Amino acid sequence: MDSVKAGQPATATILDGRALAGTLRAASLAEATALTARLGFQPILAVVSVGEDPAARSYTAGIARACARVGLACRALDLPETITAIELRGVIAGLNGERDVCGVLATLPLPAHLPLSVIAETLAPAKDIDGITPTSIGRLALGEVAFAPNTPAGGMAILRHHAIPIAGKHAVVIGRSGIVGKPMALMLLQADATVTICHRHTTDLAALVRQADIVVTAAGRAGLVTGAMLKPGATVIDFGINFPEWAGGKMVGDVDFASAVLVAGAITPVPGGTGPVTNMMLLRNALTAARMLLATSGGA
Ligand code: ADP
Repeated sequence: MDSVKAGQPATATILDGRALAGTLRAASLAEATALTARLGFQPILAVVSVGEDPAARSYTAGIARACARVGLACRALDLPETITAIELRGVIAGLNGERDVCGVLATLPLPAHLPLSVIAETLAPAKDIDGITPTSIGRLALGEVAFAPNTPAGGMAILRHHAIPIAGKHAVVIGRSGIVGKPMALMLLQADATVTICHRHTTDLAALVRQADIVVTAAGRAGLVTGAMLKPGATVIDFGINFPEWAGGKMVGDVDFASAVLVAGAITPVPGGTGPVTNMMLLRNALTAARMLLATSGGA
């Protein structure tokens, strides 16, 4: 069991993302090694960044480390802030055509003159390992097999790994961004939950959260959900990554962990919950894409 009881007086099971990431990493390493042998080359995961952003840099470095640990190649393309939409489309089209590149990921944010659609509408769906293309999102919405965005896929992996019941349960998702809240809601719906999506304009968040068997936070607001708002025994999946001043530079989620852990049945800590699983989902998608390369290249 990799779910552990927190120290006293906590009552919730701590959903340990690091342990799950370790298990997934071991499986990915074996698969990447076998695929490389069958393909005859090491599949490349390309990470496209535009301009200088410290968070994007650190995300890219984390992906490069994760790739190295499972035996995938990683190519970081750091493009200048001044690149035009046409030039960026050209870069993506180039990656689409490169045999050894199995998957492409774009780090956010992009500069204001470049909407994500510039990449999303150019990238080949077969290489869309972060699930941003209209094809991937459409497939997800239709409940078809798709490359799912990595952050919500990680949340679903945590729920499944801990055998948390989803079917027939009421899931409240706070946040409706295209890469976290909305796809998470779609995945929970696909898993037969009754889903409520909350956002900035939701009038009584506490009343809705109180009804939830599963609470998912992806709002970017530290302390948004407290223990007093939870139904006792609820499962809490916290995607928040916040560095509020009061935490003295420490990373915290959207959930007030100290109060929530006393009421919830199970909860992801921040850090060490959803975060570590995100990159493993990316690698899993990259390996799926590499298997597709194998099929199209007629490999053994
Ligand atoms: P992410 O990329 O992590 O999903 P975004 O900043 O793109 O984050 O989106 C934040 C989401 O959180 C939005 O959908 C917004 O409506 C929601 N949100 C922000 N603040 C609140 C709040 N106080 N109550 C409910 N939802 C909120």
